[in-house]
Amino acid sequence: MPLELTTPIQFMKGVGPKLGDLLRKRGIDTVSDLFDWYPRTYEDRRAARTISSLQAEQIVSLAAMVVAVKQIPMGSSHRKMYEVTLGDATGRINCKYFRVPYRGYFDRFARNQKVRISGKVILYRGKLEFHHPDIQPIYEDDPEELKDILIPVYTETEGLSTAKVRKLLEQASAEIISKSEYPEIFPAWLREKYKLATRAQALKEVHFPHVDNAEYLLKFTSEAQHRIIFEEFFWIELYMASIREGVRREKAIAISNDGAWVKKIREKLPFELTGAQERTLSEVLVDIAKPHPMHRLVQGDVGSGKTMVALLAAVQAAQNGIQTAIMAPTEILAEQHFKNAKKFLTETLGIEVELITGRLKTKEYKAAVERVKSGEAMICVGTHALIEESVEFKNLGLVIVDEQHRFGVEQRNKLKKNNSPHFLVMTATPIPRTLAMTVYGDLDVSIIDELPPGRSPIVTRKVFPTAREKVFGFMREQISKGRQAYVIYPLVEESEKIDLKNAVEEFEVLQAKFPEFKLGLLHGRMKGEEKEAVMADFRDGKTQILISTTVVEVGVDVPNATIMVIEHAERFGLSQLHQLRGRVGRGEHKSYCVLMLGYAMSEEALKRAEVIVSTTDGFKISEADLELRGPGEFLGRRQSGLPGFKMANLVRDIKILKEARDAAHELLARDPYLTKNEHALIKEQFEKAKTHIVG
Ligand code: ADP
Ligand code: MG
Repeated sequence: MPLELTTPIQFMKGVGPKLGDLLRKRGIDTVSDLFDWYPRTYEDRRAARTISSLQAEQIVSLAAMVVAVKQIPMGSSHRKMYEVTLGDATGRINCKYFRVPYRGYFDRFARNQKVRISGKVILYRGKLEFHHPDIQPIYEDDPEELKDILIPVYTETEGLSTAKVRKLLEQASAEIISKSEYPEIFPAWLREKYKLATRAQALKEVHFPHVDNAEYLLKFTSEAQHRIIFEEFFWIELYMASIREGVRREKAIAISNDGAWVKKIREKLPFELTGAQERTLSEVLVDIAKPHPMHRLVQGDVGSGKTMVALLAAVQAAQNGIQTAIMAPTEILAEQHFKNAKKFLTETLGIEVELITGRLKTKEYKAAVERVKSGEAMICVGTHALIEESVEFKNLGLVIVDEQHRFGVEQRNKLKKNNSPHFLVMTATPIPRTLAMTVYGDLDVSIIDELPPGRSPIVTRKVFPTAREKVFGFMREQISKGRQAYVIYPLVEESEKIDLKNAVEEFEVLQAKFPEFKLGLLHGRMKGEEKEAVMADFRDGKTQILISTTVVEVGVDVPNATIMVIEHAERFGLSQLHQLRGRVGRGEHKSYCVLMLGYAMSEEALKRAEVIVSTTDGFKISEADLELRGPGEFLGRRQSGLPGFKMANLVRDIKILKEARDAAHELLARDPYLTKNEHALIKEQFEKAKTHIVG
């Protein structure tokens, strides 16, 4: 039977049940998937290199000898670092691994064994080293070793080597790419306009590269890579564009009036809106005055005053007799919004506000639901409980969702309640502008990049474990003055049990250290109610120190808390550190954030700490985060709704991203429902791609 793109991978010659399983585990189910498994990098073996000739930032491949393999414990944690020392006639170099690529990886190396190493040379504390390079044993009889060529390198797992992958690809290519026509999805007009190679050309080149293209391939700027990256972006951009088009065709209630109510509320506020709030508010008011639903995201750091803007939009709706739903991710936050709304809106204009959470007793719940249904309550604040079908509105026209990253598109849809209300989504997780266009490509974005005046900036310091006692002394001093403190403990990914144990242990140690104070403990294993109770105690000042894992992250407002100590700060991502730090500095008192660092730390972790110390600007931090970690890690796939890209990189390939977006919009403009013949393959492929994007 001849091979086809749809042939299941186990039907390929040389693929037994075991290899079939390994491939399927990597998402390679068919021959087509095999072609779409792109090389991670290329080895350029033309230049013979020596250790002493290496320079920082070079991507190199060289032969050397194993001198030693060591395990090094990382601080007090349960983790270990691996260090492989290599040598040649000219010198030595260390290779560091902060995690083990796969079990048995290091057992493959004996002392004095000849190996080939490929990776990027990094300068760390004045010394050159490799981080997570690829190391392969060299066997003298390997013909590849003797050739003067460019070799694609695939991400390896146990039992699935680069050599094996290449063999399969050779076989598949001989039967498919070389012989028959590989189906071309893009029509001629699109390929010409955006200068795209055909898919067949592109695949051939990335898997069987020409040595002349080495320089481009290594930088991911070859024509072949351009085509593949473009296509990866294209599906997501087409998806976003099609959602936008769909929304544009929906009808919504136009909310428009003379703004008298908004004006009245603003006159009563104890402060002026900032310029950024002002701008965002007018963007929102323009949007909701249209007969099509607004889908707008308001991004802004914690405390930048997003909620106030949202409430004013609700006031505008209320003047027209239109109801607003405000949804928050936790009960505490819902209560916070409820109190704010009552304080600013009910007292001034008598706008009725209702709170619906899972905590209400049946009788209260029924009464609240009734007031929402009858239209007596103009604004309804709540948690997930709002999604429930028993909550009906009389005239829902505006939905405000706080801390959007905890709500998926699906939940947004449920909140529609058989209606097409305007959507205002608020998030305090700033993401770089370039990314916002894609991650939130289905939303318009407003940015509040200005804090209300008069906030004293948070003082942030990074501290090594030797200064621990000093930090505790400072905490004691502040708490004695009446302030409160957070101590944050990292989540240990590998095991929830260890995580729990660490937080609990820390709690006991600190309780012994601060016998004069009351401590609270918060962790992810607690039930929702328990968590809320612990948070409430802290908010009400019943406890002075709150030990917590990252569950405290989301928007809680305790203005009296002025110290945050983050243990093992090196283990947190930048955005996470920023979010955590945002829990302090919310009141009139000067606030402090202490980053406790472990001893064993990567260069990247140190850079992260330095970024946090140097700025409190969420956008600057998110840009730095993106640069340090790359977009995959940065976004977290699920929560962003983005598929994992196989080759595309949102930082490196931003220009191609924009082209792909233009192309997607142009395609829909030419053929809104993709009914033309020349777009049939796009339509078919798009249906498949969609399941990856939304699923
Ligand atoms: P966010 O939701 O963006 O974290 P909030 O809307 O909760 O921020 O605002 C934080 C605090 O700042 C609230 O107490 C709010 O009343 C106050 N606030 C909002 N806008 C201003 C402003 N322009 N000037 C002074 N204080 C403001
Ligand atoms: Mg908020």
